[in-house]
Amino acid sequence: VNILAIESSCDETSASVIADGKVLSNIIANQTVHEQYGGVVPELASRAHQENIVPVVDLALKKAGMQPADLSAVAFTQSPGLIGSLLVGSCFAKSMALALDVPLIGVHHMQAHVLANFIEEPKPAFPFLCLTVSGGHTQIVHCDGPLDMRIIGETLDDAAGEAFDKSAKLLGLPYPGGPLIDKYAQTGNPARFKFPEPQIPGLNFSFSGLKTAILYFLQENKAKNPGFVEENLADICASIQHRIITILMNKLVKAAAETGVTEIGIAGGVSANSGLRKALAEYGEKHGWKTYIPKFEYCTDNAAMIAISAHYKYLAGRFTPMDAVPSARAVF
Ligand code: ATP
Ligand code: MG
Ligand code: FE
Repeated sequence: VNILAIESSCDETSASVIADGKVLSNIIANQTVHEQYGGVVPELASRAHQENIVPVVDLALKKAGMQPADLSAVAFTQSPGLIGSLLVGSCFAKSMALALDVPLIGVHHMQAHVLANFIEEPKPAFPFLCLTVSGGHTQIVHCDGPLDMRIIGETLDDAAGEAFDKSAKLLGLPYPGGPLIDKYAQTGNPARFKFPEPQIPGLNFSFSGLKTAILYFLQENKAKNPGFVEENLADICASIQHRIITILMNKLVKAAAETGVTEIGIAGGVSANSGLRKALAEYGEKHGWKTYIPKFEYCTDNAAMIAISAHYKYLAGRFTPMDAVPSARAVF
């Protein structure tokens, strides 16, 4: 079974080929046009997808050593995401499936982030808990099988990735600031500045209070010393990152205790964060979990995660009708 998968939900155009569950290629074209605007501009994203999609698919097939005629199905990200961006990927996938007379497989982007943990060995056993932390979502997902997932906790306001990006913006760092906070935090003292931990009941999260706390903290200190941020950048970044990580990990510990699940993973763009990766390993050691983290290229948006999801859907015979429409928002 050879499947071509396309991801175009936000600002990465990506294509991947998977053969019998083994990823043979994963081509990702990042869009740099958004940097100057400090965030993703939806209309520019759609146009860049249109420009990128043919060469990206072409390269993914070439790298896998395949011709279009070798494909058994074509998969695409159906939801959630930017509607214009999703339309480019879905129209392309439909056209290709129609031309090749093979089935179409629509994939849920957030479920695919979770299944990035199943691309390489060792794969998690079920039940499996995944903390998905990305630019738009923060979820704790309970999985009983690759196609059997439910959300048991999520953010009530900002996502973890937004907390990173908005903090970075307050520090005057360019978009997306998450990876930069990670970089500066490496040499900083995480205990130097204390930011509040929100008291949210159950397994849900909140990050908007942290953003406000950081805003006031910076205003106050800059009033006393205009060079405060420049002089203390590493310690500020380390302290912010430390707080975001402890908010995430405390809820994950709670979720593991409540469900009794010991197979635990992370996924999504923020799972590329070196502090979070280290924290998961340390907490796993302490609590007796078996832990999983996708390879870097499978953390942020990529088509390999869409491909592995499509692989499981193909095996289960779960195909998507040609008249299916993408949607900006969608439940699991
Ligand atoms: P969603 O999947 O919710 O639709 P998205 O696809 O835009 O959102 P991803 O591509 O999964 O999100 O992740 C992007 C986010 O990950 C950004 O907020 C970015 O700052 C963050 N991120 C990436 N690398 C790091 C890192 N090393 N440290 C912290 N955050 C990071
Ligand atoms: Mg992106
Ligand atoms: Fe994503």
